[in-house]
Amino acid sequence: MSGLYIHIPFCKQACYYCDFHFSTNQTQKDAMVKAIIQELKLQTSYLDKPHLETIYFGGGTPSLLTYPQLTEIFDTIYSYYSVSSDAEITLEANPDDLDTKTLTNLSQLPINRLSIGIQSFYEHHLHYMHRAHTASEGEHCVKQAQDKGFQNLTIDLIYGIPHPDHSVWLNDLSKAIALNITHISAYCLTIEPQTVFGKWVQQKKINPVDEEFSALQFEMMIQYLETAGFEQYEISNFAKEGMYARHNSSYWLQKYYLGIGPSAHSYNGASRQFNVANNAAYIQAINHQTIPYTIETLSISEQINDYLLTTLRTRWGCNVELLQQKWQYDLYKHSGLLLEEYLKKGLLQREGSILKLTKAGKLLADEITAELFLIE
Ligand code: SF4
Repeated sequence: MSGLYIHIPFCKQACYYCDFHFSTNQTQKDAMVKAIIQELKLQTSYLDKPHLETIYFGGGTPSLLTYPQLTEIFDTIYSYYSVSSDAEITLEANPDDLDTKTLTNLSQLPINRLSIGIQSFYEHHLHYMHRAHTASEGEHCVKQAQDKGFQNLTIDLIYGIPHPDHSVWLNDLSKAIALNITHISAYCLTIEPQTVFGKWVQQKKINPVDEEFSALQFEMMIQYLETAGFEQYEISNFAKEGMYARHNSSYWLQKYYLGIGPSAHSYNGASRQFNVANNAAYIQAINHQTIPYTIETLSISEQINDYLLTTLRTRWGCNVELLQQKWQYDLYKHSGLLLEEYLKKGLLQREGSILKLTKAGKLLADEITAELFLIE
């Protein structure tokens, strides 16, 4: 069982907080689609048993692809890979792309899940982040997608955006609930140095993110969404019953995946492969039948730390017995005192061999995981 990720590295405009790999110059879009198709053909042996349970188009902005481009990519996938009949097939889309014609086209493809980059339903915040869509486009496209039969919808929201109070954030959450969204990924606004916001912070044009303000909004969100029937099954992900993202869950459950496209990465248990994050270099290499990647072989301690990092953030938690069986690593022996302290403080809870973060622990997830890391 494995997953396929395809990175579409183009956007209409650069959001001021974004540090993903993308270009706003779309002149290479056709050449990129050809290269992606070629890489799909070249990578068929990367996964041991390439039976795909999930396919995910991420970016960038995959909704910038035309119907014929997406059709050609799907034709290649179905010709060269085995795809489960009930595979989850997700496409990331921005609201300004989801007009009636595009939604009709998408509904005729094997896509059965849309991930819509709403980020906020508040006009001023969209403008502040330099998003390409308006608040009403956000709301409208969700309704249109549902009318077209896309019931499995997830939206991205951002919290921690500067505002005198929490009213906008609470309104964003209540709008999402009113729209009958069944899955929400909510991320704290973070400011990376190489982004526009990062430069503005350096130039003192804007303030850094207020961590206390963001933490409060994180707590409010957990409370609000749980009351509305969502389960926080990963730190940043909330779903109604049965609506977990299968693709993302497979990352957290350490399943193997193949990443196609510039900057995409792949994982097969023993190593990670990172494709070059440069559109021209990627296309050129693929045209010469070479996959331009670097490989990182994971040491035992890196595999253990990966496992701790991903599983502790989820509802499934970290299985101490599995650590022992798979890597002969005794977490209690290495970090017993720390674990006892977290358990006593109510930051961790134990259910048999499973350790999970409690509600209070989720607020300190990064710190707790880092403390438990195996340092060699
Ligand atoms: S649309 Fe998405 S990938 Fe593109 S710049 Fe904005 S946040 Fe980044």
